Amino acid sequence: MHDAVKKIRERLLSDLNERMAQECRCTLQTVTTQPVPGTGSAVAEVLFIGEAPGKNEDLQGVPFVGAAGKFLDEMLASIGLERGDIYITNIVKYRPPNNRDPLPQEIEDCSEWLHEQIGIIDPLLIVTLGRHATNHFFPEKSIAEAHGKTYRREFPEGRAQVFFTLYHPAAALYNGGMRETLKKDFLRIPRVLDKIRLSR
Ligand code: URA
Repeated sequence: MHDAVKKIRERLLSDLNERMAQECRCTLQTVTTQPVPGTGSAVAEVLFIGEAPGKNEDLQGVPFVGAAGKFLDEMLASIGLERGDIYITNIVKYRPPNNRDPLPQEIEDCSEWLHEQIGIIDPLLIVTLGRHATNHFFPEKSIAEAHGKTYRREFPEGRAQVFFTLYHPAAALYNGGMRETLKKDFLRIPRVLDKIRLSR
């Protein structure tokens, strides 16, 4: 990607982070250390979307820095990628108290920033991690049935986006069967990307 495009997108993401810190309506921000907007390459081909920051993420302001993040890094390495090659964020940008599930209103209040991030990064592929991220885009799908599959969705602006659905690394971490399934599904990402590139 052209250097100038990268610089513009980096500036847009940093503007977005500033606006989010000042304007976000999500009430979680009153009980957290800081927002956790997202991290990685502004010109990433793959955008990963998780659920919400946990304790370590809240303290550091960076998504997926705990045990689930380490597992994610291992899976990225298994397909020859590292954090700097991808962008990673969550549907909810603040840590819910005691890591409870995000509430529909919190997801709704944070979704404007998520959708702006998608528009700026313009990824070839969005990988949803777990039930909450998947159901944000595909409310009718169960993660047990959807994992390891690709889906297309038209956004209201008219752009078509390809999604790939995975179990959440935190859910799979201590569940042997799910862990193996997630690792196997993850290995399909390069083929999915090749298919999208060929169809363009
Ligand atoms: N789980 C998530 O969904 N997001 C994080 O940032 C960390 C753990």
